[in-house]
Amino acid sequence: MAAFGTVFTPEMIISHFHNNSWSQPELVATDSISLHPGAHVLHYSSTCFEGLKAFRHADGGIYVFRMDKNVARLAQSSQLLALPQIDGAMLQQMILDIVKRYAADVPNPPGSMYIRPTHIGTEASIGKAAAPSLESMLYVLLSPVGDYFAGGAKPLRLLLEDSARCAAHMGMVKSGGNYASALQPIMKARAAVQADQVLFCPNGDVQETGAANFLLIDGNEIITKALDSSFLHGVTRDSILTLARDRGMKVSERELTVDELLERAQKPGTEAALSGTAAVLTPVGTLIHAGKEYQVGSGQGGTTTAALRQALNDIQWGKAEDKHGWLVKVC
Ligand SMILES: *Cc1c(COP(=O)(O)O)cnc(C)c1O
Repeated sequence: MAAFGTVFTPEMIISHFHNNSWSQPELVATDSISLHPGAHVLHYSSTCFEGLKAFRHADGGIYVFRMDKNVARLAQSSQLLALPQIDGAMLQQMILDIVKRYAADVPNPPGSMYIRPTHIGTEASIGKAAAPSLESMLYVLLSPVGDYFAGGAKPLRLLLEDSARCAAHMGMVKSGGNYASALQPIMKARAAVQADQVLFCPNGDVQETGAANFLLIDGNEIITKALDSSFLHGVTRDSILTLARDRGMKVSERELTVDELLERAQKPGTEAALSGTAAVLTPVGTLIHAGKEYQVGSGQGGTTTAALRQALNDIQWGKAEDKHGWLVKVC
């Protein structure tokens, strides 16, 4: 199986913002776009994106998961980057249209069609370092993806760092610059302690990793950072917390310090996990902090993590009732 995110459908759907309005969305070849070398995005990082998935059910129906949430988040990211305002209804229709066109390419579970809406500032002006791009491009890429856990869900090793992933006021924007600022810490953590990811904990406050939210599961309680503007508000995080409440678990959205995390993690039965659209819910086996390694519970991931992941997958795959109305039928 090709690496996640490297296979694309031959076409994508695109709209251009020009003269204060969006063009009629059109299908174009995925292999290239034309950009002026002075385009705002290439110099001043006016770029944001989304990641959501479409699933094939046993009856052949194709469904997208929580599209409204992802479209709302792209609207928020665009606003915080001072990009032109997106038309949410138009973007939803673009997503439905392109997924319908490539419905035959949506893999069976555990595979899915990964959907990547992208919004970039295209105005050719290198003088706009401190001014917004008045032109932009909004396009939706499709990438069929297989089972993220084809090699088995190996529990992750996380390095806890007393630093921020990105500028504090940019945390809730799904924007390229934030990944650029987290890349060196992650590469260093891989080389130094064979960590899979860095868990960013500025001033001892447990936030998130480079592209996933962090959840601590202690018995019947899930603890995760309360929403604020410093980190990305994951749709998977919200879905897992909702399913946990449905199961009668206690959900605590609050500050979690590194000290409390390390203390709780060592208790038998404690679990930790990362949540995100690509990998759903991935168990964390080891926390590394100040030169010491702490095994989380058994170190092998736990039953609650597995059960919550299964509960979410069951809804996505049409094997359990969609009580919260998260799926939209494409065709
Ligand atoms: C995308 C992302 C997440 C997860 O969000 P989902 O909506 O669950 O996919 C978490 N943190 C960061 C930094 C992200 O980019």
